Amino acid sequence: MSNKSEKKYRKIKKSHIWNSIVEFILFSIVSAFVVEYGLYLFGSYIIDTKIAAEYEKIHYMSKLYERSLAEEDENIFFLLLDEGRDFLITDQNGNIVRSNGVDTRGAESGSVHLPGQDAPVLVYRDGKRGFIHPAKGRLTLDYPAFFRWMSSDEDLEEKETEDIADRNIRLINLPVWISIDLGQEGAFVGKAVFSTDKRDVTMFTTLVISLIALLGIILCTILFAGIRNFVRQKRMVSLFFTDVVTDGHNHTWLLVKGERMLRKKCSAKNRFALINLQFVNYSTFCICHSVKDGEKVLCTIYRQINGLLKRDEMVAHLGSGEFGIILKYMDDASLRTRLGGLIGELEALDTAHKFYFRAGVVMIDRLTDKNGNPVQRKEIDLDTAGNNAVAARLSLGSGEESGIAFFDDKMVKEQQWIDQVQERQQTALEKEEFVVYYQPKYDPKTDTLRGAEALIRWNYPNLGLISPGRFIPIFERNGFITEIDHYMIRHVAADQKTWLDQGKNCVPVSVNVSRAHFIESDLAEQIRDMVDEIGTPHEYIEIELTESAFFDDKKAMLHTISKLKEYGFAVSMDDFGSGYSSLNSLKDLPLDVLKLDAEFFRGENAGRRGEIVVAEAIRLGKKLNMRIVAEGVEVRDQVDFLADEGCDMIQGFIFAKPMPKDDFEKRMGAPAPQPAVPEA
Ligand code: C2E
Ligand code: MG
Ligand code: MG
Repeated sequence: MSNKSEKKYRKIKKSHIWNSIVEFILFSIVSAFVVEYGLYLFGSYIIDTKIAAEYEKIHYMSKLYERSLAEEDENIFFLLLDEGRDFLITDQNGNIVRSNGVDTRGAESGSVHLPGQDAPVLVYRDGKRGFIHPAKGRLTLDYPAFFRWMSSDEDLEEKETEDIADRNIRLINLPVWISIDLGQEGAFVGKAVFSTDKRDVTMFTTLVISLIALLGIILCTILFAGIRNFVRQKRMVSLFFTDVVTDGHNHTWLLVKGERMLRKKCSAKNRFALINLQFVNYSTFCICHSVKDGEKVLCTIYRQINGLLKRDEMVAHLGSGEFGIILKYMDDASLRTRLGGLIGELEALDTAHKFYFRAGVVMIDRLTDKNGNPVQRKEIDLDTAGNNAVAARLSLGSGEESGIAFFDDKMVKEQQWIDQVQERQQTALEKEEFVVYYQPKYDPKTDTLRGAEALIRWNYPNLGLISPGRFIPIFERNGFITEIDHYMIRHVAADQKTWLDQGKNCVPVSVNVSRAHFIESDLAEQIRDMVDEIGTPHEYIEIELTESAFFDDKKAMLHTISKLKEYGFAVSMDDFGSGYSSLNSLKDLPLDVLKLDAEFFRGENAGRRGEIVVAEAIRLGKKLNMRIVAEGVEVRDQVDFLADEGCDMIQGFIFAKPMPKDDFEKRMGAPAPQPAVPEA
């Protein structure tokens, strides 16, 4: 089982029903056993007691018979006849020698223990009405046969034979034959009669019926509780799978039922895709209107999608305006067209608002495991597929438009790289795997070295040098960038100090400080303390901020920049022209250096119109008393143009690519008589 929801679902389904069934079966078995055993014991006790009294009489008769033999007095034998009881006298071979009445003994016989008797007594079952019989050393009533006989029309008279006039009680006689051993004289076998009146039988029958009825009621109660639990469980399952906002299906339902369906149906012929569809405007809509109104829109969207589904396709509201959809498809293009159509219909749901939707798509039939092998049908894991669909959707960014993105292997590799980077970052810092590269900045008029920018590289084990674009954005997201900025400042300050101590012709080196770091209120102090610890003069360190770092809190920004300047560090605005708030920032912040973005010198921007913009930007910077650096210059003509327009420095491949410390050291040339700090 792949997901927790499935496990929980199974738990709900199992619990109550099984309890009730087990309860019912156990109780039935136990009650059947108790009733049977109780009746057996109760009946046996009554029979034993009554037959024991009969035994005494028959025993007395046997003694009388023995006396008649001993005294050879036939008159004594006649006294036996007066007892009014059937009896037989057998010889040692069992042949009847004398008798009174008819011998109705049956074939079944056995020894039983009667109350008050030490030795077991031999008893014969009556062949005609033998409802009492010896079994396991006791006398027992054969209930089924007895009740059958009682309810039949057979022997009506016998059932009601003796009417005891004064008590008006009709007795029922159930016979059993008791044999008393006379040694050499054979045996005296007397007919013992268990007499019970009809009222006793009725009472006993009523008792048995009441007992059975009581048990029936208890069993019915258990059964009813089971049915009630079953109904309750059905309701629980339905709640477990219902989305409270749309009243449709929820995430859990999609995971459980979707996985089951896909395991059965997904194949090369039946291809399925999982889509994570986000109603992007949901939270904004809720803010502008109300959450209730937002939820109404979600209901409409859910119904709309549901109405467009075919057989075996599914939709569920995952929460907060996100929907999970399972669609069948033939090929990527037709799926894209169908999804585009679906999004189009959803966008048209409310003409008064501009709704947009973003979809991340995962092809279930193309899922692979960690090793890149195709996933077997029984291993389909919608949790992971759903996560990948979200990753695909997020890759569309946060623009204000609808879009569709398919999850592919590149995304998996990207995610694996992010994991790898985050896992190694701390070790890499401790092992000094990060390397400082220097890219020189040259004066375009004299082609002399005027400065440099420190750019990080990662000497990743087995992979070699990795450029910052592959890890800086990850560090910016996870906050590790502040460590990196500190690392770079310390290393650059240390390099500068060494070169100064060696009497090299040092130039200011700029270090990039990320926006995430710049919002720390004591950043200026942190930088000052780090540089002072190494003992590098502040004018040799410059701080670069990308344009996007000029966030809204201008006051805090102004505070940090002013402090940095006060401590003697130059501050530059990196990538000027690539963002959107640059002119405003220029107005408010006392920056020293303006770095024109490389895009000004690329492709279509580099034409006549581009030159006008660059020339005006340089003029603007100059008027604000700033030094101008042009980044990413690769063409000689551009160098000449920039020189003519008064650009102070050029940092581009035309002069030099970023290089290791040793190579940069060579570029510094011989010590110069004048300090290399550029003039303002
Ligand atoms: P950036 O600060 O704007 O750095 C300039 C980038 O432009 C560098 O890329 C440099 O190699 C490249 N470049 C310079 N001249 C040319 C040229 O003529 N042609 C071309 N094609 N490219 C040129 P790099 O080193 O890959 O750095 C990329 C970005 O990574 C940097 O942009 C900066 O934002 C960030 N970065 C690099 N090192 C650090 C660091 O130590 N800390 C922080 N926070 N960010 C860093
Ligand atoms: Mg920079
Ligand atoms: Mg730049």
